Amino acid sequence: MRHPVLGDIILSRSVRARRISLTVRPSGEVRLSFPTYVSERRAIAFLEAKAEWVASARSRFAARPKPPAPTKEEVERLRAEAKATLPPRLEMLARRFGLRYGKVTVRAARSKWGSCSWRNDISLSLYLMTLPEHLRDYVMIHELCHTVHHDHSPRFHALVDRLTGGKEKLLARELRSYSIR
Ligand SMILES: [Zn+2]
Repeated sequence: MRHPVLGDIILSRSVRARRISLTVRPSGEVRLSFPTYVSERRAIAFLEAKAEWVASARSRFAARPKPPAPTKEEVERLRAEAKATLPPRLEMLARRFGLRYGKVTVRAARSKWGSCSWRNDISLSLYLMTLPEHLRDYVMIHELCHTVHHDHSPRFHALVDRLTGGKEKLLARELRSYSIR
């Protein structure tokens, strides 16, 4: 929806949501999540009540200095590190959890940390090297779970949650505070 003051708002009504909640991403994206039994009107009323908070959260993010874009040399260094580190780690995690994937490729992807194709080939962004190790593992576990469920269904999230020791939500939230440079 388009809010007159706040601009684009992503409305997300889901069976997983337990309450109405608002998240503001570093990109400025605002998501209003609410359970299926809550009307859109009530969710929007909640948004209105928090409009000031949303605006200030956004301006805090905007004021935060963005890290400079990596130089060519830096990208090459990250690529070398990523190629040496990520595929063996993925293999290790796959073995630990008894999951199988096809090929693994390391790319200079800036839009996503990772992806998994319908053939179960996994692609990992070399920018994963800029994340703490536990978040790198979390991204790889997420992609490995797509070899079982090719969607973001409740079953998929239940699997990720199990393989991360019940920390999926926590890790997802932590990951959102990082952006690909
Ligand atoms: Zn996914």
